[in-house]
Amino acid sequence: MVRFALSLLIVTLVLVIGATGFFGFFLLESTPPAITVANPPSFLGRETSIAIRATDERSGLREISVSLVQGDKTFHVGSRTFEKGAWWMGNGVKDAEETFIIRPLDLGLASGLAKLQVTARDSSLWDGSRGNEGIWKADVAIDLTPPAISLKSTSHNLNSGGTGVATFTVNEDVASAGVRVDGEYFPAYPAPGMGKGSYTAFFAVPYTSDRLERLVVEAVDRAGNVAVTGIPHRIKYHRPKVDRIIITDTFLASKMPEFTAADPNLTGSPIEIFERINTELRARNNEEIRAITQAGTPEVLWEGTFIRLPKASGRAGFPDERHYIYQGKEIGTTYHLGVDLASLKHAEIPAANTGIVAHTGYLGIYGNTVIIDHGMGLFSLYAHLSEIGVEKGSRVKRGDIIGRTGATGLAGGDHLHFSMLVNGHFVNPIEWWDESWIRDRVLANMHAR
Ligand SMILES: [Zn+2]
Repeated sequence: MVRFALSLLIVTLVLVIGATGFFGFFLLESTPPAITVANPPSFLGRETSIAIRATDERSGLREISVSLVQGDKTFHVGSRTFEKGAWWMGNGVKDAEETFIIRPLDLGLASGLAKLQVTARDSSLWDGSRGNEGIWKADVAIDLTPPAISLKSTSHNLNSGGTGVATFTVNEDVASAGVRVDGEYFPAYPAPGMGKGSYTAFFAVPYTSDRLERLVVEAVDRAGNVAVTGIPHRIKYHRPKVDRIIITDTFLASKMPEFTAADPNLTGSPIEIFERINTELRARNNEEIRAITQAGTPEVLWEGTFIRLPKASGRAGFPDERHYIYQGKEIGTTYHLGVDLASLKHAEIPAANTGIVAHTGYLGIYGNTVIIDHGMGLFSLYAHLSEIGVEKGSRVKRGDIIGRTGATGLAGGDHLHFSMLVNGHFVNPIEWWDESWIRDRVLANMHAR
C-alpha cells in the first residue's frame, strides 16, 4: 500500500514537472518569430506586393502585420491573425507565408523615403501574454510618378512582315523598356552613341495585315510605374505570294528517311510522316529558333547592309503562302519565313554581317543550320547547309565564310534558306539588303535626337 502511494506520488511529480516544462517550452518561451521577406523591394510604386514568411517553432504565430513609417506618421498596411490552437500546444501555425499588397496612394503616403516594417508576434505567454515580437525593417523609396517617355525616332513607315525601329528617352532609371506590337514585346537596348536614358528597340511587324491593335513604347520604372507612348506609324501591306508545292512520291522516298532516322517515333506512311514533319516538327523547330534568338548581345555588332548570297537567284520569298498538294489534294499550308537563294551546288556562304555565332547544328526541317547574333535582338539564320564551317560562340566578320549550301532538312534541292529575326520573330530579309532602307529607316531612327 505504501509502495503504491509512493509510486503514485512519483508519477504525479513526474507529470507535474513534465507539464510545467512542457508549458514553459511552448507557452513561456522567449524566442521571437523569424521573418523573411522574399525579394525585398527598395522602391514602392502605386501597387507593390510583398511575400512574407514568418516562423515560430515553439508557441506558434499569433499575428503578422505590415506598416509604413514616413516622417513621424505610421501607416497600417494590413495584418493577418492566426487562430489559437489547442490551449496546451500554443498556436498550431508555426510557419506561414502571407502576401500583402501595398498601395501607398490609398494609404495617404507621399513620394519620398519611408520605412517598411513587418512585425510578427507569437502565442507565448511571455511579456504579460503579449508574446514575443520579431521585427523586420527596410528603407524604401516611394515613387508614384510614371516615367516620362519621349519618342525621338520619326520614320515609322513600315512594311507588313518588315522591321521597325523606335528610339526614345526615359527621364529616370527603368526596370524595363521596350515596344509592344499587339501581344508581342520587343525589349529596347541602350541606344549606341546616345546619352544615358536613350533606348532603341527593333520590332517585327506582323506579315498578316496592315493594321495593328497597338504599337507603343512602354517603360516601367523601378517602383513598377508604367508609362506608355504611342508610335505614329503607317503600314504598307504586301499580300503574300501564293505558291502550290506538289509533293511527289519521289520526294518522299528520298527525303523522309533522313527524318525517320533522326526520330524513331516518326512512323506511318511516307505522306503521313511528311504531314507530321510539316506541322509538329516545323512548330517545334520554330520554337527552338525563337528560344535561341529571343535575347542576345546588347551591343550593335553589324555595320552596313547585310550580304545576300552572291550570284544567287531568288526562289521562294518571305512570307510566301505555301499550299502543299499530294495526289491532287491539299494536305496543308504554311508561311515561308525566309528567302530561298540558289547558286552553284555547295556554294560558299558568307556571314551576312558581323556578329557572334549563336547556334550551329542540325535543326529538323531547317537541316544543318547556323544562326548569327548581330546584337540588339537582330539575328540571321542560314539553313539546309551541306557543311558548317564555324563554331558556336565564335565571332564572325561580315563576309567570313560560315559554311556551304546544301539540301539537308526539308529541302528539295541545293539552296540556302536565309532568314532574319528580331527578338525571336521572323522578318523579311529584303529590307536588310537595302542600303537606302538601312540609312533612312534604321540608322536615321537609331540616331534621332
Ligand atoms: Zn526556304
